Amino acid sequence: MKRITMIVAMKQEAAPLIEKLGLTETNDINPLLPCKNFAGEYKNLSINLVTNGSDSVHGVENVGTQPATLAAYEALRLLSPDLVINAGTCGGFSDKGCKIGDVYIGERIRFFDRRIPMGEHYEAYGDGNFQCQLAVDLARKLGLPTSIVCTGNSLDMSPTDEAILRQESVVNKEMEAAAIAWVASHYQTPLVAVKSVTDLMDSEHGTAEEFASNLALASGNLQKEVLKLLDLLAQKQATSDV
Ligand code: SAH
Repeated sequence: MKRITMIVAMKQEAAPLIEKLGLTETNDINPLLPCKNFAGEYKNLSINLVTNGSDSVHGVENVGTQPATLAAYEALRLLSPDLVINAGTCGGFSDKGCKIGDVYIGERIRFFDRRIPMGEHYEAYGDGNFQCQLAVDLARKLGLPTSIVCTGNSLDMSPTDEAILRQESVVNKEMEAAAIAWVASHYQTPLVAVKSVTDLMDSEHGTAEEFASNLALASGNLQKEVLKLLDLLAQKQATSDV
């Protein structure tokens, strides 16, 4: 696996990685789209990092599933990577063992807010449930815990959302991974979701407030663990092990 594409929603999450890897912005993305591509080399790997870009109307970062679908499609079409890494931040439940700044790898990725009660096939389609076997193998080698990455389009959590999320074991709630997994499945490209906890959804602090104060810490930890993952992939590439 030589060509690695990272998809990262927000520039704040991407900044430590772009800096550490010395990536520079390219001009190959369709100029009508908001996403941005940063490229470089790391050891024997060819690296791209695609962010969702910002919203020209509201001046905020594009988060959620539509920007993620668009970024993933543009990245996979343009770059034909061997592996996609979705690096980002997430919420977790402290009563399921999550702590701020912990980094997890997704063993399974699902939607939690696409409820389509029109029979088992639509229900299963709504939930997605993308299995990530390669990610589990890599997590084991890196000594990182695995989680069920749960994607929806709201930062806050309704009681219905919470009931669904609590049916899973260790939950990382975020807003992009399942959309990326869906696009990657069309391209038959493996996906590793690496998620760093910015907020505990069962703490007394508000999610948005916790997110803002922990974003830098979580993004720093994310960068460190993604680098370890790249080191492992580079080593495997050198020994043709993947
Ligand atoms: N308030 C922030 C916006 C955060 S949007 C700001 O003004 O900058 C949340 C982003 O972080 C999404 O890309 C999502 O994937 C991730 N995220 C972190 N914690 C989350 C949570 N508890 N629920 C959903 N997404 C979360």
